[in-house]
Amino acid sequence: MITEQTVCIPPRATSFRAVCEACALSQLPSRGYVGATVEGTLSLEREHGRITCARGHEIRVLRALPASLVH
Ligand SMILES: [Zn+2]
Repeated sequence: MITEQTVCIPPRATSFRAVCEACALSQLPSRGYVGATVEGTLSLEREHGRITCARGHEIRVLRALPASLVH
């Protein structure tokens, strides 16, 4: 049972598509990620957010910091 999911998005991204692992796990493996993807948006001034997939699972969204890409 997945209690919390987190996705990371690029520093300049404002929209993204993620896979809800909880949904992916609860459906037939042959379906792959079909029906488990969730789309979200995050404004540039926000560093984190939260989206909810179609079936109600919460997914945290973290924006990667540009500084972390320097190294
Ligand atoms: Zn889900």
